[in-house]
Amino acid sequence: MKNEILIAGSGFSGMWSAISAARAVSLAGREDDVNITIVSPSPNLHIRPRFYETAFDEMAPDIEPLLAAVGVKHLCGTVESVNTRNNDVVFKSSDGVSSAISYDRFILATGSQLCLPEIPGLKEHSFNIDQLHEAITLNNHLKGLASWESTVARNTVIVVGGGFTGIETALEIPQRLRAIFGDDSKLRVVIIEQSSEIGPTLGAGPRPLIQEAFTECGVEVMTSTGVKSISSDAVITDAGVYIPSNTVIWTGGPRAQSLAQHIEGEHDRFGRVCADQYLRAQGVESVFVTGDMAMVAADDKGNIAAMSCQHALSLGRVSGYNAAAELVGLPMHPYSQSKYVTCLDLGTWGAVYTEGWDREVCMQRKEAKELKQTINTQWIYPPEADRDAAFAVAAPDYVIVP
Ligand SMILES: Cc1cc2nc3c(=O)[nH]c(=O)nc-3n(C[C@H](O)[C@H](O)[C@H](O)COP(=O)(O)OP(=O)(O)OC[C@H]3O[C@@H](n4cnc5c(N)ncnc54)[C@H](O)[C@@H]3O)c2cc1C
Repeated sequence: MKNEILIAGSGFSGMWSAISAARAVSLAGREDDVNITIVSPSPNLHIRPRFYETAFDEMAPDIEPLLAAVGVKHLCGTVESVNTRNNDVVFKSSDGVSSAISYDRFILATGSQLCLPEIPGLKEHSFNIDQLHEAITLNNHLKGLASWESTVARNTVIVVGGGFTGIETALEIPQRLRAIFGDDSKLRVVIIEQSSEIGPTLGAGPRPLIQEAFTECGVEVMTSTGVKSISSDAVITDAGVYIPSNTVIWTGGPRAQSLAQHIEGEHDRFGRVCADQYLRAQGVESVFVTGDMAMVAADDKGNIAAMSCQHALSLGRVSGYNAAAELVGLPMHPYSQSKYVTCLDLGTWGAVYTEGWDREVCMQRKEAKELKQTINTQWIYPPEADRDAAFAVAAPDYVIVP
């Protein structure tokens, strides 16, 4: 009987798991002995880091030809539950039929989702850009505002959360609104962050540049305050400040997708499954976890892989390789990713590029913006649908960031 590798999720880590597993099977010359199947709602890679932009037709490349080229089968649907005792999952096809699928090795790559706190009006009256359909809903709303009467609430956009996504979103909004309204004289964009500083995890290095960008782009910053309630036409802050707005964009709080709870063992505060250096879920022999699902050390200095595309691309290559290596008799490969960089889009101001976990600023303004555009439109995209070309960049030690 053939061995079965089953992957849930076709995001960055799931797609690279599939290619990397196929490469390992091929290296061992065992293509006739191993099936690789990937399950997700559709055979597309959603380019989540671009969801603050508007080029939606470029944000979900079709990966079916690529998967076919490397010999991986795609099933449209979702994994509903995982039974690690029986080594099987419940699969629900996109036409609603449920069935069991058995595996020899399972790779959990279902990513993360925004977790909304219990704030009155938040679910009903806010937008977000966590998933593609949500980013499109926001965009349609913003475009629709053009036909509304010009009021303070219509002309004010509030971004809640001053982390990476909140900063990029807030600084993109002025130019998006100018393109929609054709006149920026009455626009107001406010970013609200409950910590005392914007970008609380971004470190001291890039912060003055971020502040400079906010000032230059006309984005107001409110720190040390949270949101108490949201209605269709206003936000009230913890401090009782009333801000009229028809557009509130929530950006805080990603958590590992709920299937993580089906895997025994320890989980971290984001719900991620704790994994060993081979990305095996601790104590569950046949399950590997990857991307935003995995809590794993990135190096031997105490740094933990972030919920980021940068880490998901490497984690996927390692999880796929290891899941296959065990089955075909290759040595396992320990995950480590010592180089860490960030490139933060700061709207018309430019961008800021940092290196290291303490985020030393190495590039800024136009130069960094060009790098950001290269990352967003090339580096994180799937390889071409050619077996050799894909395998050439799929080794578990392939370095994405030079
Ligand atoms: C707005 C935004 C901006 C970002 N910007 C950056 C950035 O600038 N730099 C950076 O490094 N990172 C950024 N990130 C984070 C980055 O996008 C994620 O860390 C990355 O997508 C994680 O990859 P993943 O493979 O773990 O999950 P995802 O890319 O989320 O893929 C998950 C996959 O699982 C599928 N799936 C979900 N549930 C199921 C199920 N039950 N069954 C089967 N399939 C399922 C989904 O359809 C999808 O195919 C950003 C994220 C967002 C939302």
